[in-house]
Amino acid sequence: MRSFVIIGAGQAGLQLGIGLLDAGHRVTVVSNRTPDQLRAGKVMSSQCMFGNALARERALGLNFWDDECPPVQGISFTVPGPDGGKAISWASRLDVPAQSVDQRVKMPRWMAEFERRGGTIVYQDATIDDLESYAAQSDLVIVAAGKGEIAKMFTRDATRSTYDRPQRALALTYVTGMTPRPDYSAVAFNMIPGVGEYFVFPALTTTGPCEIMVLEGIPGGPMDCWADVTTPEQHLAKSKWILETFLPWEAERCQHVELTDDNGILAGRFPPTVRHPVGVLPSGAQVLGLADVVVLNDPITGQGSNNASKCAASYLASILDNGDRPFDAAFMQSAFERYWDYATYVSQWTNALLAPPPPHVLELLGAANGDPRIARRFVNGFDDPRDFFHWFMSPDSANEYLAATREAALAAAM
Ligand SMILES: Cc1cc2nc3c(=O)[nH]c(=O)nc-3n(C[C@H](O)[C@H](O)[C@H](O)COP(=O)(O)OP(=O)(O)OC[C@H]3O[C@@H](n4cnc5c(N)ncnc54)[C@H](O)[C@@H]3O)c2cc1C
Repeated sequence: MRSFVIIGAGQAGLQLGIGLLDAGHRVTVVSNRTPDQLRAGKVMSSQCMFGNALARERALGLNFWDDECPPVQGISFTVPGPDGGKAISWASRLDVPAQSVDQRVKMPRWMAEFERRGGTIVYQDATIDDLESYAAQSDLVIVAAGKGEIAKMFTRDATRSTYDRPQRALALTYVTGMTPRPDYSAVAFNMIPGVGEYFVFPALTTTGPCEIMVLEGIPGGPMDCWADVTTPEQHLAKSKWILETFLPWEAERCQHVELTDDNGILAGRFPPTVRHPVGVLPSGAQVLGLADVVVLNDPITGQGSNNASKCAASYLASILDNGDRPFDAAFMQSAFERYWDYATYVSQWTNALLAPPPPHVLELLGAANGDPRIARRFVNGFDDPRDFFHWFMSPDSANEYLAATREAALAAAM
């Protein structure tokens, strides 16, 4: 039995902690918020998770909301045209439905489960001094503090970070009373060229089923509009204003919406950042960064919680593979690289979508209008973005794929 201390009771910290407990290890999780504080606090994410990440939770028996949580059955994609109508509009089903359980619901439940399986939770806003004492008492300290201040002890990796400043002004608005999409539930993704993105999907929150509106404004543009918003009512009104101004079909769905609760709102921004995974304490002791601490992406592609789940699963496998050997810097670096072999593709794809779309991307997204095969492939790439590197990310692979789809369509028509 080895002993682990994990700083942060979020998606990654709790999932890894429970995995380590199940493997027979001793685990302490340090949380700067109690379950009651989490439950009564502000929303933190829109946390839409796709099939592969959900399967990792399910493997640990952490899928407590399958009956209650409304499924996300597909993804729709819309680009408004200059005339106020839709220039591009299509939808496709996900092969495996996605799910979003408000972290205010999920984390308190997982904390109870972590304790039930034998883990210890310490309530404390961990400092560098605390990390020193945890490092002295345990085999490995893992920092899973998300965007918390303590993550800054891990230095930025300039070679792996594409941006050094925020690329979007972000906002979340949790609502009830939205008119459902026809046919099937979906992430309704709208890209407003030069302005930003809006996507919305069903979820489960503290008060029951809801819809989560995610607003991503290009800095300095008209959707970067949250500075003078001071009340929940103003936040909802501003969200509706954006839809009325740029996406009338989405405004139409929102005629009767109300906030789920006064804490169902969030506004902020952060730079997407990759950090070096080994943090060195003043004593020279080393700690390992996990999930958002080391690979923090903009939410435009909805990958953060998925990555957190996959990073936790990857580190769990690395830890178990390490057996009785020490958890030294070489181990930490190699555990991170094993995860980075996957996460590099998520970061590159996410960072590409933050930039104005190049001609081959516009061509592909336009072609998906008339070819369900392309739409299906795009939509299911959210579950494993590595696929985009075979057909979407470079002009050459896009041209090759478009030629192949045209040929197949012609052959089918003969
Ligand atoms: C607007 C927005 C929308 C998003 N939408 C999606 C989406 O649709 N799909 C998706 O997959 N991802 C989404 N994400 C990202 C996702 O929420 C995160 O990537 C994910 O929660 C990261 O998990 P984590 O465990 O690394 O960190 P977190 O979930 O942030 O957990 C870290 C925990 O550590 C605690 N902590 C911090 N400092 C300390 C300390 N010093 N001591 C003790 N505890 C500490 C924090 O309070 C927190 O509880 C979104 C994020 C944002 C901001």
